[in-house]
Amino acid sequence: MNRSPFIDPELCRSCGACCKTFEIEYARSMDPIDLSEIDRLRALAEFGDRITTREDGETISLVIDIPCRHLVEEAGRYSCRVYDDPCRPLMCEHFPYGASSLADCPHMRRRHQ
Ligand code: SF4
Ligand code: SF4
Repeated sequence: MNRSPFIDPELCRSCGACCKTFEIEYARSMDPIDLSEIDRLRALAEFGDRITTREDGETISLVIDIPCRHLVEEAGRYSCRVYDDPCRPLMCEHFPYGASSLADCPHMRRRHQ
């Protein structure tokens, strides 16, 4: 089940947007030497241009365009192969989070746009 207060559970499991990429968030206050790790990651052959960045005032996020292996598509609708399985990560159960935007989950409740 989806336990996030930011989405109507009846609407989840349909678009798959949250399972098609994953993100690693860095604080802008990080040491500049550590930030150079972002470029190093992007240069890795397996990732290439599948890594983009998303920036806001306080953070830089690496957006890695690799879908979860449990994501299943059928007639344009997406579902999670392990949705009701205990192995499903807890972070999936609580997505979208308070800081998520409509770009992350197009079905977020309007009060959180
Ligand atoms: S992006 Fe939102 S609506 Fe779409 S599958 Fe993920 S949580 Fe559900
Ligand atoms: S385990 Fe399921 S809910 Fe979590 S990212 Fe993968 S497909 Fe999505």
